[in-house]
Amino acid sequence: MERTNRIVRASYKIMWRRMYREDVLCRSIPGRQTRQYQSPSHTPTTMTDFKGVVVDLRSDTITKPSDGMKKAMMEALVGDDVYREDPTVSELEKRMAECTGKEAALFVPSGTMGNLISVLGHCEHRGSEVLLGDLAHIFLYEQAGMAQLGGIQPHIIPTNPDGTFDVDEIPVRLRYEDVHYPRTCLVCLENTQNVCGGKVVPLHWIDKVGEVAESVGLPVHMDGARVMNASVASGVSLERILRVCQTASICFSKGLGTPVGSVIVGPEKFMYKAIRLRKVLGGGMRQAGMLAAAAIYSLDHMVHRLAQDHHHAQLIAKAISEEKSRNVTCHPDDVDTNIIIVNLNPEAVTPDQFCERLLMVSEDEIHETGDGGVLVKVMPWTTTTVRFVTHLDASLDNIQAVITKLKYVIRELDSIH
Ligand SMILES: *Cc1c(COP(=O)(O)O)cnc(C)c1O
Repeated sequence: MERTNRIVRASYKIMWRRMYREDVLCRSIPGRQTRQYQSPSHTPTTMTDFKGVVVDLRSDTITKPSDGMKKAMMEALVGDDVYREDPTVSELEKRMAECTGKEAALFVPSGTMGNLISVLGHCEHRGSEVLLGDLAHIFLYEQAGMAQLGGIQPHIIPTNPDGTFDVDEIPVRLRYEDVHYPRTCLVCLENTQNVCGGKVVPLHWIDKVGEVAESVGLPVHMDGARVMNASVASGVSLERILRVCQTASICFSKGLGTPVGSVIVGPEKFMYKAIRLRKVLGGGMRQAGMLAAAAIYSLDHMVHRLAQDHHHAQLIAKAISEEKSRNVTCHPDDVDTNIIIVNLNPEAVTPDQFCERLLMVSEDEIHETGDGGVLVKVMPWTTTTVRFVTHLDASLDNIQAVITKLKYVIRELDSIH
């Protein structure tokens, strides 16, 4: 509250200059410019005295269950799912197996657990190795779960800007039987690729990975946290996208807006192992039908509307590119789905400063944007980029407000630098 008052009163021109000086200082510290993958966001979450619009585009995970979804949850038939007696969980698993063209599915509490169970299920021995991209969520953001809990080593391949990696690296990096080596047991893909900006990885590439992996006897797992976005954006069915993948983990708590839950899909035989692994990881849930009901509701009501989020992301990307700014850039062609990576000129502004500026309003700005001002929450991403994510709780009106704000802030920055 106090912060916002202070911010509104701040002279923004002076603020930019102060930021610039701090930036120069920061950049003189060795190591500051090395790539960082994640900065914690320090955005204030309560701004009770602020009368304008607050649009939160930090992530699609902030989405809340709608009234219809809550009603479905309230009315769900439930049972003890550890005894496999929850009819709603069973229904969700059946539907997911069907729509992905796999034999079976398993409801799990999170995408992280879905990936961990899948990796542990494919790599049953300590000293196994998994091939995956160096910008994969499994490698960057899952606490090296496979190493911590499975004695499994990730073996990373450089990720290309389009979210793929070089398929020819698979046979090169594959370990042959030798007393010195770990045993290569799995290849992991990610679709959409989050860090690369919600990229839909090309179908022909997925198929090629499948072909090469099969030729050397490796199964493929897809981290499909946002594979629904990939399917909607490309018009390709989940079944087709996942054809060469033995297993996949799919999130319901991102753009689909459920409070909790992911599903692993794969062979029936694999799911027996997965159920045991889920239990030892503490993911055996009892009357989980209430959560599965939210996921079923999202299959019926939330999947098709992802196209709207993709459209909103295009609107933001186009608005930025139309500014032709030297300091803030974004190419709409680089935006495949609901994630927008915005590039900043490091000579002008750091990601932290840009994010902070979007959380401030000046008198002049309110005059221009109207409605008591707009605050936009986004995430610092790398040392020269910020990430915007569109989602179901950001309406077209919200997106238009974001665009007005962005244009104002970009012009302000360009007038100084
Ligand atoms: C969010 C995410 C996960 C993990 O899901 P949680 O439910 O947050 O554990 C895994 N992979 C990708 C690509 C993600 O974006």
